Formats: sequence, C-alpha cells, structure tokens
Amino acid sequence: MTLREISSLMAQAETAAGRAAGSVTLIAVSKVQPNERVKAVLDEGHRTFGENKVQEAAGKWPEFKQQFAGVDLHLIGPLQSNKTRAAMELFDAIHTVDRPKLAKSIARLAQEMGHCPELFIQVNTGEEEQKAGVLPAETDAFITECQSMDLPVTGLMCIPPVNEEPALHFALLAKIAARNGLRGLSMGMSSDFERAIALGATHIRVGSAIFGQRVPA
Ligand SMILES: *Cc1c(COP(=O)(O)O)cnc(C)c1O
Repeated sequence: MTLREISSLMAQAETAAGRAAGSVTLIAVSKVQPNERVKAVLDEGHRTFGENKVQEAAGKWPEFKQQFAGVDLHLIGPLQSNKTRAAMELFDAIHTVDRPKLAKSIARLAQEMGHCPELFIQVNTGEEEQKAGVLPAETDAFITECQSMDLPVTGLMCIPPVNEEPALHFALLAKIAARNGLRGLSMGMSSDFERAIALGATHIRVGSAIFGQRVPA
C-alpha cells in the first residue's frame, strides 16, 4: 500500500469511529528495511518512524535526522537496561517500558540528561510467557510506580497474540488505560490497524503494509 492509501484507510476508520480526523498517529515501522526504502518514505514527507532495536536504529537514524528535519522516532521493541542511555539519546518515544528496573534506570537518566522521551507501558494482554510486558493484573500498580518516579507515561502499548482476535486485546488495553487516566494507546499493525482505530488507538505501528515484506535476515 502507498502511504496515501494507508492515510485514507486511517481517515475512514477515524470517521467510522466518530473520532476527529488526524487523531491517530501513523508510526512507519522501518526495522530491517533497506535505507533506500526508508528514504523514499521520508522523501514523501512522512516523519514518524518506529524501530525495534536500539543498535539497528543507531546505525541509520542519526544520519537521516541530519538530512530530514522533524523526525519523530519511536522505540517499539524490548529495551535492555544497558541500552537505556543510548535509547534515550536517540528516541522521542519508548513504547516498551515493562519492568521496575527499566523504569528506575530511565528515571535516573532523565534526571541526569534533563530530558525524557514520551513513555508507553507495554502490557502483555495475552499473558504469553515468551512475550514482554506487564501482566494486566499488575498494570495499575506499575503505572502508579512509574508516576511516582515522575516518569512521563502517556499511554499503554500491546502486541496481541498471533492467533487470537486482536480486538479483544485492544479493548482490554483501552479499558486499563481509561481507568488509569492515560490517553495514549499504541496498538494495531498492518493487518489490524483499522480495528485498533475503532477501539481508540492513538498510535498505530505499521511496517509491511508500507514497506513491503521484511526480507528475513
Ligand atoms: C514489526 C512490528 C510492527 C509492524 O508489524 P507489521 O505487521 O509489519 O505492520 C509493529 N509493532 C511491533 C512491536 C513490531 O515489532
């Protein structure tokens, strides 16, 4: 799909859900994509991108940021504590805050660096063993803990289990966010972003629909 086609599907989904036009941010997930493809999307004027590895992002984004003003870079993959500083230097938002140790390390570095990316807490809505994220039953307490450290938590993020109806997970995430007074909802990917918008997504993370299939490493 072209960016324009995705934007028009987003607009339709916003209208159908009775939401304001432009209320959903499209994060173009550029992980593993060759630089020419990423540059083509930048040339079209898009500025919001997502990467899932700090190291990979550090290899390409500093240069793109010099070439293109206004890049807004989101970390959507797991963050190891020893890469927290690098992540906070490079990213404008981190969607994968998922444990107290990481929250503490972000809080300490935010003090030292004088700035902090916008933060989303990742919730393991499917309670999958292999998946990162706070369990739904533990999320309220973790949000409170992050807020007590003055962290700028603006929303929640989830990656639904592959073989389940994503709408159930989107609805659960929206419910947890609402009862905690959080507005941000990072949910929805190439195959289900319209359903996510219907259920309140503020940020959708779309990779293959924009860039084509990722070439396996
Ligand atoms: C890769 C990735 C996406 C994008 O997936 P597509 O199916 O290619 O749209 C979204 N979110 C996360 C966390 C990802 O790692």
